[in-house]
Amino acid sequence: MKKAKDIIRKIRIGCKKSCRCVCRADILSRVILGVAILLMVVALGLVFFYKSGTISNVFVPKESHTVVEVKSGDTLSKILSNEGFSGKDIESISKMLKKEVGLTTLYANKDKIDFIRDDETKPISKIVIIKGPWNRVEIDCGQPDVWQCQNIEIERDTRVTYREGEILEGDSFYLAGMRAGIPAGILADVYDLLAFEMDFERDVRAGQKFYVLYEENFAADNTKVDTGHVLAVSFEALRGRVQMYRFKKADGTVGYYDESGNGAIKSLKRTPINNAKITSSFSSRRKHPVLGFTRAHKGVDFRASTGTPIPAAGAGRVIARGFNRGHGNYVKIRHNGTFETLYAHMSRFAKGVNVGTAVKQGQTVGYVGSTGLSTGPHLHYEIIKNGQHVNPMTVKLPAINNLDNANKKVFMERKTQIDAAVEELKLNPKNIVRL
Ligand SMILES: [Zn+2]
Repeated sequence: MKKAKDIIRKIRIGCKKSCRCVCRADILSRVILGVAILLMVVALGLVFFYKSGTISNVFVPKESHTVVEVKSGDTLSKILSNEGFSGKDIESISKMLKKEVGLTTLYANKDKIDFIRDDETKPISKIVIIKGPWNRVEIDCGQPDVWQCQNIEIERDTRVTYREGEILEGDSFYLAGMRAGIPAGILADVYDLLAFEMDFERDVRAGQKFYVLYEENFAADNTKVDTGHVLAVSFEALRGRVQMYRFKKADGTVGYYDESGNGAIKSLKRTPINNAKITSSFSSRRKHPVLGFTRAHKGVDFRASTGTPIPAAGAGRVIARGFNRGHGNYVKIRHNGTFETLYAHMSRFAKGVNVGTAVKQGQTVGYVGSTGLSTGPHLHYEIIKNGQHVNPMTVKLPAINNLDNANKKVFMERKTQIDAAVEELKLNPKNIVRL
């Protein structure tokens, strides 16, 4: 507008008021003004249509997505049938998925299916089965009766993050970890690891420092999607510094090792239930709370609410499952030729756990209760070594997975890399470090 007026002014300055070119200049000025107004109206119109989304439909064909979340009880057939696929199509798609990408099951509340049309009026041209943030299966339905599918792994950028913290007066490790900004899932993994070496009730004191180095996965657009593995943990416990490093052996098995390369994951856990308060320790003599007279307490009591799952302290085979007056409902597991563990006062047993059942470390064998001679819901936990009851908090436990010399050499190199990453991120937390 301003420009148009300037041009008109210039034209006017160029001639005398009385001359005939004044009329010409006036006509020209009106034409220019008219064109300018027209251009502005068109521009405003374009802005309006673009904002309302109409323009993208006019210029770019818009893909239409229908995303279905897999719910409990859903099957692929049911979902495809709801989207109008014929029985014959459903059969060929299911067969192809099984044969080409080994997909037979959908997971409720996790998997999603995206039905894509080139535009709303067109038939479905692609089906994308979204299996978590990093994996999807694409089915091309471009031509009638011809199906093609492929597994697509989404590229992720794994970076490492360092977090450090300190236990304050009246703190628990959990609270201090949350305050340090450690994500809940990573903190749970750290707990599981430290539980092999520490008794959280007795080893945690104000002033102790700790750090965790863990992975975070980023998508191509630089957004943080989820966390990966714990790479290193360090905790200044009362008994000395506990340090663990994640390491993959030449055969592909992954484990955690201390700074000298000794297996950090033990065949048994001292505290099967993480973060549970010890209400009674192992002792050869104590006054029994129900019986009233003094007798040995052959295990450790952990306070936990009724129904809390009780995980097996280590892998083994169930050798007893039953009820007696003292223990109430109990389960006993033999882990190897040396160790057995016993879990008492259960409210109920876990499904499928019977005498003879093989259990994994961490597998739920029953649920906390107060059956037998018990004053309230708790887990009574015993470790029996060569037939003798031992103190779960102090007994020396064997490592599952020690390293041979060749693996130990590689481990030491890996440890050096991890330590260097810790030092770098300690100084410059914003640096991007990949390991
Ligand atoms: Zn007890």
